[in-house]
Amino acid sequence: QNSMSMLKHAPQAHSTPPRKKARLSGPLTPIQEQRRQLPIASGKDALVQEIKANDVTVLLGETGSGKTTQVPQYLLEAGLAESGIIGITQPRKVAATSLAARVSVEQGTPVGGRVGYAVRFDERAGPDTRIKYMTDGMLTRELLGDPLLSRYSVIVVDEAHERTLRTDLLLANLKRILRERNGDANGKGKGKNRNPLKVVIMSATLDAEKFSQFFSNAKIIYVKGRQHPVKIYHCAQGQTDYVDAALRTFFQIHVDQPPGDVLIFLPGQEDIESLEKSVELFARQLPVGHSEVIVVPMFASLQSQQMQRIFAATPRNSRKCILATNIAETSITIPGVRYVIDTGKSKEKRYLAGHSGGGFDTLMTRDITKSSAMQRAGRAGREGPGFCYRLYTEEAFLAMAPSAQPEILRCSLAQAMLQLLCIGQDIQELDLMDTPEHDAIHSALCSLFLIGALDSHRALTPLGRAMASFPLEPAHARAVIASKDLACTAEVLDIVSVLAASSKLFVDATDKRAEIAEARRALIHPAGDHLTILNAVRGVPPPRAETRKRTTREKVGRSARREWARAHFVNERTLREASAIRDQLRVSCQRADIDWRASCGEREEPVLLSLAHGLAQNAALIAPDGSYKQIMGQSVIKIHPGSSMADKKVPAIIYDELVSCFLPLGWSVSLSCVGIYKPDLRSGGCLPSRRASSLPSARLTAERRDLSFVVFLALVVLLSRNF
Ligand code: ADP
Ligand code: MG
Repeated sequence: QNSMSMLKHAPQAHSTPPRKKARLSGPLTPIQEQRRQLPIASGKDALVQEIKANDVTVLLGETGSGKTTQVPQYLLEAGLAESGIIGITQPRKVAATSLAARVSVEQGTPVGGRVGYAVRFDERAGPDTRIKYMTDGMLTRELLGDPLLSRYSVIVVDEAHERTLRTDLLLANLKRILRERNGDANGKGKGKNRNPLKVVIMSATLDAEKFSQFFSNAKIIYVKGRQHPVKIYHCAQGQTDYVDAALRTFFQIHVDQPPGDVLIFLPGQEDIESLEKSVELFARQLPVGHSEVIVVPMFASLQSQQMQRIFAATPRNSRKCILATNIAETSITIPGVRYVIDTGKSKEKRYLAGHSGGGFDTLMTRDITKSSAMQRAGRAGREGPGFCYRLYTEEAFLAMAPSAQPEILRCSLAQAMLQLLCIGQDIQELDLMDTPEHDAIHSALCSLFLIGALDSHRALTPLGRAMASFPLEPAHARAVIASKDLACTAEVLDIVSVLAASSKLFVDATDKRAEIAEARRALIHPAGDHLTILNAVRGVPPPRAETRKRTTREKVGRSARREWARAHFVNERTLREASAIRDQLRVSCQRADIDWRASCGEREEPVLLSLAHGLAQNAALIAPDGSYKQIMGQSVIKIHPGSSMADKKVPAIIYDELVSCFLPLGWSVSLSCVGIYKPDLRSGGCLPSRRASSLPSARLTAERRDLSFVVFLALVVLLSRNF
């Protein structure tokens, strides 16, 4: 990495890096020249005029044409940031942070100055900030305190075609805000153009009509991009191991084909990290003198600085091999790519509802859609003619769904509904582009009721409002709140911040399970995975001392931590992310008048009880045959072999994550008939809970000391049936 970070940052035009103090007059700096050459630049004036003339504008343009980086700057220059901030939403955190970094360079100001960002658990924006890149989730959170988004003069909804749940909620709210702030066409409405709002919807795919219709036939503007022809190859046969197929295809290209970087699309971080290792291993075995391979991973939980490596120019006599998730499809354009390898897979969040609620969101590897496949191929033809190698057959391509289903139709609605209730909105009354199914709404209501966020009249409780003030899933927020009375907030924060991190803490590899178990033995807590997480967080060599300068001791501390993490098969990146999250949660605790220092020492019961308050819906009791049955939903749960509870039998468990393997039958199988699972199937249809802990109350039951919690759970379940 050191040698990489020394490379010059010379994006796309292979020019010298931009200096922070760009010259303001005289000849154009390389970065200004680059901006001027973007396809969108020629239509700048017309575009600004249209946006000025209309409340809502839909902007459609090829990926890489300059929409995301340029439009906000054009609007700033046109004076549209005088009465408020220009906010640009992104579905992904890393896109928001890296775009803010790029546009800051273009503006010649530091990040957090004129251009800033806000993502969950991290914000860099100040009083001078005029352009703010943010996740769609952050902007929907802002609705809580500012229902009219009055701080903003322009909202740009970027990547709208992805139709994330947050984007959909935002669009519905923007429609309402426009009515209130701008008044409607007949001059009705309160705003009377005092502080009008401009909305720009941006998308890279051809679904602009639907957005336009949603906003009463808003004007659609097309930006012509530069797209060179891409030759597409399909596999003659389907591939069972796409990572291996990608490896072989990459080296065929590397050995036989002329220079040009290779972009490989994979479903997720695990596959990326495994392919990264194999590519590096094989690259070392190439004959001396063969051009070098530079492997660059790219996925959502990457830090923004690491992202910058992607934009560094490839040195002579070497080839960049970029391993990316669908983040490289439309949100981030990588210069220099000439070859694309498409595995045809991506990870998608999906919600499986059990009977009477108790469902969960789960990330599953699925086949991509036609629209994604075309976008992926398109990435090879941005700077010249390119090649796309699809690791699937042409028939498979033709059989793909045209485009993805909006998230609102396939994800858990609990957190979103809780937030909406806090601003007095009912999801069923909202004017949405697509309305979620009744079952999904019912299930979310049950979950919220179960953790005490709603009362039996569906009204928000003060507890529910308190939960919504944490940037966490309601279940985790509930656990933090419960920890106040149980005086164990320090412990619960340590655990919850790991659960909220974007990657897993414990590295799991099926082929090394025995070795991993041995290495981790000292960390394993008999009460389950949640306390094992706590052991890990507390077992790490102390973090760097709180000094301003990095001392030698601190460096030693860092490498000791890295070493410790490697030895225990613990993901160091997750530890770092979790520690940043914990800092943020401490602030939230302070605001909610919860003492985050409160610790229960070695006692485990308060911690487990706090978690049980949040995870009440994810509780399962042991059945006579030794399996666990969900209390809500009655589904059979199998404990994941990677869990420390895997070989144990306890009266009851709580779990916070269910992982499901791909079922050849598809996901129409309802959760309650998971009886089809076969324990000997390595990738069968089981629903293993990856993390589980024994339910403290159940232990209490076993000791005949207190039955109340189980009785409480049972009651709650009975009540929720009549909900
Ligand atoms: P669009 O939104 O239309 O897809 P963008 O505005 O994201 O286009 O990108 C415009 C150009 O800016 C692309 O050529 C891209 O490679 C470049 N770019 C974006 N981010 C960075 C960055 N962090 N460093 C260097 N170049 C970047
Ligand atoms: Mg973009």
